[in-house]
Amino acid sequence: MVDLKGQYAQIKDQVDKSVLDVIASSAFINGPEVHAFQKELEEYLDVKHVIPCANGTDALQIAMMGLGLKPGDEVITADFTFAATVEVIALLQLTPVLVDVEKDSFNIDPEAIRKAITPKTKAIVPVHLFGQCANMDAIQAIAKEHDLYVIEDNAQAIGASYTFADGSVKKAGAIGHVASTSFFPSKNLGCYGDGGAIFTNDDDLAHKIRGIVNHGMYKRYHHDVVGVNSRLDSIQATVLRVKLPNLDTYNAARQDAARKYNAAFYGNNKIITPHISKSCENPICTGCNCHVFHQYTLRIVDADRDALVQHLNEKGIPCGVYYPIPLHLQKAYKDERYNEADFPITNQLVKEVVSLPMHTELDDDQIEFITKTILDFVNG
Ligand SMILES: *Cc1c(COP(=O)(O)O)cnc(C)c1O
Repeated sequence: MVDLKGQYAQIKDQVDKSVLDVIASSAFINGPEVHAFQKELEEYLDVKHVIPCANGTDALQIAMMGLGLKPGDEVITADFTFAATVEVIALLQLTPVLVDVEKDSFNIDPEAIRKAITPKTKAIVPVHLFGQCANMDAIQAIAKEHDLYVIEDNAQAIGASYTFADGSVKKAGAIGHVASTSFFPSKNLGCYGDGGAIFTNDDDLAHKIRGIVNHGMYKRYHHDVVGVNSRLDSIQATVLRVKLPNLDTYNAARQDAARKYNAAFYGNNKIITPHISKSCENPICTGCNCHVFHQYTLRIVDADRDALVQHLNEKGIPCGVYYPIPLHLQKAYKDERYNEADFPITNQLVKEVVSLPMHTELDDDQIEFITKTILDFVNG
């Protein structure tokens, strides 16, 4: 699904030197590389504060702790996403409220958010799934109207832009009150281990979060709040510093691969290619920078998705089903408050979706082999 070795080969000299320099310096924790990366990412995202941490799941948890959410507060998020989002809500004894998504974009449905709001609702967590922002015009408006926090789970869309209805443009993760991201190796900006970060434009919240990630300490050995230990280490930071200047090029390579996939599948009525919320007239448009294709996800309609997956595996083509089970049906998150009739889209998508290999090193021969194999299969 990803070719991390091929990408490493392109930057090997720089990465090796940077990592060896960190080892020679022995500044493994909170060293100058972490600080420098933080500043560079703030500049790239045009956000006031980046707080690095240990992984994307911690980042979500810490964002919620920073906002002071309390047990019993309701947090609305998407039913069709990776479990990390709902996991941290539950861990903090907040009440997860899962809602359905949009069929086209796979992202949380603003109308479903509206219907789920109660007097206990405190926050909305839109997940920018597969590399494209949720409908932030609508979500920001709902949040404003009901005085709710917006926590963007930006683990899959770093580098994507969002164009508002008024024409203004912001980077994914620089829109809500606070955002989280992950530097897991296979993410669009991945390190060589675990890593994550929290972003915010709110000075007070940033200060609070800087203490939370460091055992609740604002002054050495004074623990003012209950915190956690969540750090990005200097070796990961130095790898990220090498990769960040390439992020736009990496995302452009993903978009280029997506365009070639789109062109190959164009016109086939059993294959629905990824919907781009802000696309132009061009039928294979990948929406400028509004989708950074963390995943390139097809919907297979009127053909057997599971048989296709098996066929691809037999042909040696990696593929993935993200995600095969709606969160509201997962054992850990089942709840009698949920009603099947409220999740028609997620229940449908889990049967239709398949994600194809997507990374920065895909070449034309690979894309041709993958698309031909899929087309031969669905066309019988
Ligand atoms: C990867 C991911 C996370 C978690 O990130 P980790 O660094 O693996 O903890 C959270 N949310 C989404 C949507 C993700 O894709």
